[in-house]
Amino acid sequence: MIEQQIKTAIRDIHDFPKPGIIFKDITPILKDPELCTQINDAFLNKIGDLQIDAIAGVESRGFLFGLSLATRLGVPFIPVRKAGKLPHTVNQKVYELEYGQATIEIHTDAFNPGDRIMIHDDLLATGGTVTATSQLIQEMGGVVAGFSFVVGLSFLKGLEKISPISSNIIVLAD
Ligand code: IMP
Repeated sequence: MIEQQIKTAIRDIHDFPKPGIIFKDITPILKDPELCTQINDAFLNKIGDLQIDAIAGVESRGFLFGLSLATRLGVPFIPVRKAGKLPHTVNQKVYELEYGQATIEIHTDAFNPGDRIMIHDDLLATGGTVTATSQLIQEMGGVVAGFSFVVGLSFLKGLEKISPISSNIIVLAD
C-alpha cells in the first residue's frame, strides 16, 4: 500500500529545526523514483474527475510533487512563495504563526478569475499555511477546488481547519 510505503520512507528528525520538534523528513521519498511515480499515480487516482484548472504548490516542498502532478494533469502550476522571492508583480497575504507572522505571495497573472485551483503541499500540520493560501487565492478571484498532501499530521487538527474551505482533501499518509 502506498500509505505504508510513504510512512516507511519518511524519517523522523528529532529536535529539528528547534528543540522539542520531531520533523518529518520526506527527502528519502525523493531518492525512490518508483515511489515518486506511485505517489503521483495515487494523487491522480484520488483526484478522479474533479475539475481542476491549476495546482498551487506551497514553497518549498509543495513544489516537488505539485509540479509533477500539474504536469501529469496537463494544467498550469502556480508557485506560492515566501515574500520577496517572486520577480513579477504579486498579491500577498500576511498570516499568523505560533510566534510572529509570515507572508506568502502569488504572481498577479498566475491564474484567471474563476479558475478552480487545487492547493498542494508536502505536509499538513496546523493548516495555517494552506488556509492563508486559500484566502489569497480567493481574494484573487480563484476557487479552491481542494487540497492535496503527501502527509497529514492528524494530531495537529489541520483537517478540521481546512475542511470548511473545501471537502475535497487528499492525504496519502497520516
Ligand atoms: P502548517 O501551516 O502548520 O500546516 O505547516 C505546514 C507547513 O510547514 C508546510 O509547508 C510544511 O512543508 C511545513 N512543515 C511543518 N512541519 C513539517 C515537518 O515535520 N516536515 C516537513 N515539513 C513540515
